[in-house]
Amino acid sequence: MEDRFSRETSHLLLTHSHSDHTFALKVFEDVTIVASKKCTEKIKQYIRNLEKPGYRLRLARHFRADRERSDAIGELQLVEPSLSVKNEQRIGPEEQELVFRVTGGHSPDSACIYSPSKRTLWTGDNLLTWYAQVVGNLMRMIEIWREWETLDIAYVIPGHGDVVGKPYITKVRSYFDELVSAIQKLKTQQLPIDEVLQHPSLPEYFGKRSQHWIEDGRYHQYQIDLAIQGLYWKLKLG
Ligand SMILES: [Zn+2]
Ligand SMILES: [Zn+2]
Repeated sequence: MEDRFSRETSHLLLTHSHSDHTFALKVFEDVTIVASKKCTEKIKQYIRNLEKPGYRLRLARHFRADRERSDAIGELQLVEPSLSVKNEQRIGPEEQELVFRVTGGHSPDSACIYSPSKRTLWTGDNLLTWYAQVVGNLMRMIEIWREWETLDIAYVIPGHGDVVGKPYITKVRSYFDELVSAIQKLKTQQLPIDEVLQHPSLPEYFGKRSQHWIEDGRYHQYQIDLAIQGLYWKLKLG
């Protein structure tokens, strides 16, 4: 990036602490690393754990389905963020300011970044275009999508997948709104989860027939099923 734009990197903005977003942190140790307070805590915990005997081996085993990730763990070195944000932090000169906002949702430590001047939103994993969404706290995610819908946005840069426009946020939010109300109705019938997953009253996912980013990928339906199960249990337990 520095070669391409002939400019030095000043900041790295982390959207959350999940390994696919942080395991290359070492490369950025010479810049200001910005993260939510919770994300910094998670990374500090990781750093402490990596010192412990046997931890790397266990971690590599945990990620064994992903060869690239598990192979990197022997050499893995993380760096503590230098700027930790509780709620919101404005970064850069006023006319090009970036707003770093802690939101939660996908994970408790999730944050997003918005550039009013570039009308661009970096969503982190609270919005994906390669999966049907990886749901943490779905009700919170719906709130976040609704907040984003009020912003002036031309470009949405998701945590995984291709850049999209603002209408994609509305598409995702409407689908999950419908899903929640359908499941709320089913809750009273005390159906077994298999029947809930197949129930004809559930809305059809708009990306169902879209191409998977991995051949034979099952990620769209799999992630939706996980979201439905999580929501159904949560509602059933009141
Ligand atoms: Zn994530
Ligand atoms: Zn991710």
